[in-house]
Amino acid sequence: SEMSLEELPGVGPATAEKLKEAGFNTIEAVAVASPAELANTAEIGESTAAKIINAARQAADIGGFETGDVVLERRKLVGKLTTGCTEFDEMMGGGIETQAITELYGEFGSGKTQLAHQLAVNVQMDREHGGLNGSVIVIDTENTFRPERIAQMVKGLSEKYGMELDPEEFLQNIHVARAYNSNHQILLVDSATDLANELREMGKPVRLLIVDSLMAHFRAEYVGRGTLADRQQKLNKHMHGLLRFGDLFNACIIVTNQVMSKPDAFFGDPTRPVGGHIVGHTATFRLYLRKSKGEKRIIRLVDSPNLPEGEAIVAVTTAGLTD
Ligand code: ADP
Ligand code: MG
Repeated sequence: SEMSLEELPGVGPATAEKLKEAGFNTIEAVAVASPAELANTAEIGESTAAKIINAARQAADIGGFETGDVVLERRKLVGKLTTGCTEFDEMMGGGIETQAITELYGEFGSGKTQLAHQLAVNVQMDREHGGLNGSVIVIDTENTFRPERIAQMVKGLSEKYGMELDPEEFLQNIHVARAYNSNHQILLVDSATDLANELREMGKPVRLLIVDSLMAHFRAEYVGRGTLADRQQKLNKHMHGLLRFGDLFNACIIVTNQVMSKPDAFFGDPTRPVGGHIVGHTATFRLYLRKSKGEKRIIRLVDSPNLPEGEAIVAVTTAGLTD
């Protein structure tokens, strides 16, 4: 937008200067900030900050409206992808939803990448077997995609259903790209859109897009407070790009996320996902994965628009994710 920060109500030259110093250079950057973040950097009250953010949102024309009947028509198409685990599916109201971002967060080794691999296999099955007859796009930022693991999981499903499934065919329907930095990662969503259009034409619609891991590059590249606003703005753009992809192709979006320790937590779990309020507000479902005994993992549904919180226990085995 061509508007300057000083044109926002409540922003004088001094405040505008402080905002710019902290990296809030544009109306858009202010529009996606949190009141606390803005209040801190500009040394203003939180309610003033909230008013400034609202004005910036209106000025930046963030969002756009569609009527309820259009939303309803699209919602009717929502598909549910099985996790392969009974309790887990039940907790999710049948499975992982399309047209939504499902965030998997947890410590190293908690099973995020394993679950992502399993979904990349399950989504290719027919509806009778909990799949969506879909192909998969993977944006791999940590070089953790393993075709060998996919093959093991396909073998696992062959045994589970007594069917002869060809691992090679499953691998041919998974399109993997390495993301080398956060800008590349954002651009890959555009490439994914082009690819998904082609695949749709070929009768191989993409029903699952995986970003593993969502935050690794952003975290590594943006250290220190000065660049936080810039990072959050880019992250916001990325998350909305992913949501749009999910709506456009009726696909499940899976993002994995790291945790950091919360030094101020005296009670409860001392970890929380990284990415701040942008990731928190844009992810439709948030799942917290924890290690338990041996191959057992506890998956907690932390946030959902329409389902109660809950926990499910799954096992990560050579054959894949099981009850
Ligand atoms: P992260 O949450 O860091 O992405 P992963 O999904 O990579 O964690 O989980 C790694 C864990 O998955 C390993 O520690 C191991 O317990 C389990 N795992 C990985 N590969 C196999 C396999 N082939 N057979 C059984 N378990 C496996
Ligand atoms: Mg991983």
